[in-house]
Amino acid sequence: MSGIQVHVRVRPHAETVWATADTVIFMYNRVHGVATSNATLFHEIEPCVHSAFDGKNVTVMAYGQTGSGKTHSMIGTNQDLGVIGRVARLLVDLKESRPDTTICASYVEIYNESVRDLMDAEKREANLRDGPDNTIIFDRSSTPIRNFDEFCTLAERAERSRQYGVTDMNEHSSRSHIILTFEISRGGRKSSISLVDLAGSESASRANTDGQLLREGGFINRSLLALGNVVDAIVDNRTHIPYRESKLTRILRNCLGGNGLTFIVCCLNPTKENFDQTVASLRFAQRAMKIRND
Ligand code: ADP
Ligand code: MG
Repeated sequence: MSGIQVHVRVRPHAETVWATADTVIFMYNRVHGVATSNATLFHEIEPCVHSAFDGKNVTVMAYGQTGSGKTHSMIGTNQDLGVIGRVARLLVDLKESRPDTTICASYVEIYNESVRDLMDAEKREANLRDGPDNTIIFDRSSTPIRNFDEFCTLAERAERSRQYGVTDMNEHSSRSHIILTFEISRGGRKSSISLVDLAGSESASRANTDGQLLREGGFINRSLLALGNVVDAIVDNRTHIPYRESKLTRILRNCLGGNGLTFIVCCLNPTKENFDQTVASLRFAQRAMKIRND
């Protein structure tokens, strides 16, 4: 399996999509049409979960504009559980056959460049510090997950923690990044799988045209902007990769151009008024395809 996989997922839409005489061809590992279920999507991600269980560091992230289906893919519905719940279920199943394995979960949110620990009753800021050899020391609480029920309890707690005191939930969720990390330990060896529901990509692409920041009074998400810059720097083989520019890129450093596995689900909402955002998301995903992890 190569270091990075990029899949595109097109959500169902009520209106007709555009037609244009100009054709640009993008290539990805796979494109999932409107009828794709979370079960099918997960089937593609499953090998990464096995790799994480066997010692690799893995990141699965959902990228796309607000309303494109990121949360649908990651959290899902009661009828069609999303990637996060399916990863949890598979990990606890795998643990059955390897009882010497410990699985712990942590759940954080990055909002306005501050990292909140969603498992902490006081929602304290989770501390990020530089460790030796370009590592990051990340102080956040960690909860043992022994069965699927324990995961559900954790997920519910995180959800409640996100809603507390937030007046405009939609606005908040479109600007925040959610990172759920499962840490897998066995015989003194540790690996992890991080599942990331990113902020809406509209808050990064506006700034990507010649660096004209905030010109339209639009909100710029520093972490998303930095993610794009890191991807560009890796693809262009630059000596300096600006991981330090944001909390998100510091946290994901190990899997972006490092020695981990990355799986990007690029979500699209293909109605006419979303044309520009759709093209911007496709471009980001195309750039990311060119990353070669060690
Ligand atoms: P985002 O998290 O990217 O802002 P959501 O996942 O919240 O977007 O999706 C927006 C709306 O579209 C939600 O009501 C969601 O249920 C619906 N939706 C998105 N993708 C799909 C899909 N593949 N199948 C069915 N409904 C979807
Ligand atoms: Mg969402």
